[in-house]
Amino acid sequence: MRRLKFNRGTRQAILIASIVLGLLFIPPLLLRLVPFPELAEFCAQEYSCRIYDRRGELIQVTALKGGGRREFTPIKKIPKEIQKSFIRQEDRRFYFHHGVDWLSISGAIIQNRNAGKTVRGGSTISMQLAKAVNQDKSHTIRRKIKDIFYAWRIEAKLSKKKILELYLNSIYFGNNSYGITSAARTYFGCELNQLDSGQILVLSVLPRNPSYYNPIEHSKRFASFSKEAEDAASKARYFNYPYKLPHFVNYISKVQGDSKLPYELHTSLDLEISDMAQSFLLEALEEARGSRITNGSLLLLNNEDGSVITWLGNGDFFDSENSGQIDGVLVKNQPGSSMKPFLYALALDKGLIQPSTVLADVPSEFGNEKLYIPENFNNRFNGPVRMRIALASSLNVPAVSTLDKVGVKNYLEKLYELGFESLRENDSGLKADLGLALGAGEVSLYELVPAFSVFIRDGAFLPLTYLQNNSLNNQLTNGRQSKILYPYSKDTARLICSILSDKGARALGFGYTQTFQTEYPSIFKTGTSNQYQNIIALGATKNYTIGVWMGNFAGNTVMGKTGSSLPAWVAKNVLDKLEMPAHSPAGQTLSETQNFPEPENWHKERICSLSGLKAGPNCKAVVSEYVKDGTELADCSWHTKLNNSEEISVIYPPEYQQWLRSNPSKGLIEYSQAPLTILTPKTDSLFFYSSLHASKQAIPFEVTGGSENQLDVFYDEKKYATINRPFIFTLPVDRGEHSCRICCGNEEVTMSFTVK
Ligand SMILES: [Zn+2]
Repeated sequence: MRRLKFNRGTRQAILIASIVLGLLFIPPLLLRLVPFPELAEFCAQEYSCRIYDRRGELIQVTALKGGGRREFTPIKKIPKEIQKSFIRQEDRRFYFHHGVDWLSISGAIIQNRNAGKTVRGGSTISMQLAKAVNQDKSHTIRRKIKDIFYAWRIEAKLSKKKILELYLNSIYFGNNSYGITSAARTYFGCELNQLDSGQILVLSVLPRNPSYYNPIEHSKRFASFSKEAEDAASKARYFNYPYKLPHFVNYISKVQGDSKLPYELHTSLDLEISDMAQSFLLEALEEARGSRITNGSLLLLNNEDGSVITWLGNGDFFDSENSGQIDGVLVKNQPGSSMKPFLYALALDKGLIQPSTVLADVPSEFGNEKLYIPENFNNRFNGPVRMRIALASSLNVPAVSTLDKVGVKNYLEKLYELGFESLRENDSGLKADLGLALGAGEVSLYELVPAFSVFIRDGAFLPLTYLQNNSLNNQLTNGRQSKILYPYSKDTARLICSILSDKGARALGFGYTQTFQTEYPSIFKTGTSNQYQNIIALGATKNYTIGVWMGNFAGNTVMGKTGSSLPAWVAKNVLDKLEMPAHSPAGQTLSETQNFPEPENWHKERICSLSGLKAGPNCKAVVSEYVKDGTELADCSWHTKLNNSEEISVIYPPEYQQWLRSNPSKGLIEYSQAPLTILTPKTDSLFFYSSLHASKQAIPFEVTGGSENQLDVFYDEKKYATINRPFIFTLPVDRGEHSCRICCGNEEVTMSFTVK
C-alpha cells in the first residue's frame, strides 16, 4: 500500500487547522459531558399549574411555595412574534454567538461611558439565564466572570431553542410574576396567543428593570419604544387571580403527592354549574341556622363518564369560624339509609327477594349473642310491606332482615366493589354487624355518589375522574371494556331506578312531599345518621348524579327536623336547573316516554298490594308490579271470605301476631295452619344479668301457631304457667343455662338460653 506523503508546508497547515478546530469544538464537547448540577436544579424548578374548567375558564393558577406565579409554556406554543421581539430587544445575535456577544458588550461599555450611567447590560439571553442559574448573587467581578463561564456551559449543554424556552419561562417580570405566560396574565389578563404587538413589546422590555418598566405605574416610559407600546402599557391592569373551587384544587394537589402538578390541567369541572350549585347550598345553610347545621358539601358527577362537574367541600371555604377549609366531600360520616339501595340491589341480584316480596316491618330481634333491635325513623311499625315500599320509604326492620338473609360478609364485599374503601379500614369505627343495613359504617360523599350512579348506568361502575375526555364510549372503544365493573346486573339496576323514582312507594315514609317531585325521570335516596349528626341526599337523572351532605364538622347533634329535607331540596334544585333549562316554555312537562328503561327479563303482573301475591277477586287493593319471568306467583290467600260469610276478612301469617295486637283493626291471624313456633327469643340466646335492674329484668317470650288456644310452659323442666292466646309471657332472670319447653295440644317445642 502506498503511504500518503505530504510536504512540510501541508503538514504544518494540517496541524494548525487541527489545533484551531480542536480549540473550537473540543471545549464545547467537554463542557457538554461535565455534569452541571446548578443547571439541572434550575431546570427542575417549581412551576404553577393552570387549572381550567371544561369550558376553558380558569379555576386557579396555583401559587408557588414561596408565593408568586411561574407558568410554563413549551417553546413551540410561544408565538413566533414574542420570540422574535425578545431576541430583537435583548440579544440580536442570539442564534450566532456561543453564549457571549463581545460586540454587544463592547458596545454597551461605550454607550454606558458616554451616558455616565448603566443604560445597557450587553448581556446575552444565555448570560441572563446564567445569572439566574448562578446561586452566587453578589456584585463582584468574580461572579460576573462565573456568569460568562456558566453561559458557555449552558450553550454547550442546551440547544438554542431550549435556552430560549427556559429563559422565557423563568425570567422575572416584577409583581411576583416569573416567565412570559404569567407576565401576560399579571399585566394584561390574557393568554400568550392573545397578546397584541404593543403588549409584546412592553413585555420584552420589562425584564431589563421590572420596577422601572412596570407598565401599570410608568406607561409613559414606553413612549421611547413606540406609540403602540405606550398605548398598551396605559391599558395594563393587575390581574385578579381566581381562587375557585379551592377544596377541589387542594384535593388534586394532594392526589399528585410528591410528583408536581403538570403545567396545565383541563378538568371536567364546570364553574358556571358550580356557582349555581353553591348558591343553593349557601341558601340551605342560611335556612338551617339555629339547627347546628353549619357545614354542607356537594358533589355532582356526569353519568356518561363518571367525571366531576362540581366539587364543593363546604358552602364557604373562608368560613374559618366553622372550619370551612375542611373538605366535606372527603369527610367520612354515617350515611344512614342512603346505603339501603346497595343492600336491596344485592338481594335482588341474588334472587332472594323481588319488589313484590312482602317483608315484615314488626318489632324484631336479630342475632343471638348480641341482640339487634332496629326501630324505624318514626318509631312506627307497618306490619307487612312489599320490598318496593320498604326501600322507597326507608323502613329499618325490613332492611336488617334483608341483610340477615344476604349475609354481612357478602354485603361488605359488594360495598368494596362499589368503591367504599373506607369501610375496609379497621379504625373506621365499623362493626361488621347488622347495623350495616342502616348505614353504620362511615363513608364519604366521594364514595357514595359514584356508587349511587351505577343504578342509572344499568349497573356499570365508573370510578370518579376529574379530567376531560374520559367518556364511557372512549373507554368502551379503547378496548377497556373488560375493566368496567358491573356490581349489579342491568335488570337489578333498572328495578332500583323504578323503585327510587316511585312517588307512591315513598309516601309511607315521607308523605306525598314535593321535595322529590320532578318533571323528568329522577331517583332519590336520603339518609340521616343514628345520632342526627349528618343528613345526606343522593339524587340522579339520566345525565347527572348528585350527593349533598349537611351537618357540622364538629360532629354535634343537629337540632330539630328543619334540616332533614334541606339536602334533598338542594339536590332537587340543582337537578332542576340542569334538566330543565330556563328557556324551555313554562309548565311544559317532559313526555311519559322519557322514563327509565324497563328491566328486560321481568314482566308486570297485577298483585295484591298487601300480600304481594297474585291478586284475586277479594283483594282490596291491586297494584301492577314487576315479576321475574318464570316466577309462579301464588294466589292471594290473605283476603278471604270466612265461613261462607259475604264479608272479606284479612288473615295474616303468624309472624304478625304481636304487631296485630297493637293494630287490632287490621285483621286476624291464621293460627291453625301454622306450626307451634317460639318467635322470641331465639334458641341459644345470651342475656346479661344486671343487679342494678334485677327487679325489672325479665325474659320476654312470644309464641305463635299451635292447634289449641292454651299452652303449658315448662321452665327448666318444671311446670311454670299455663297461658292463653295470644301466647305472650316472661320468664325470670337467673344466672346460668336454662331450658324452656312449651306444649300446645299434641305439639311441643323446646329452646335453651343462657344468662350471664
Ligand atoms: Zn290480597
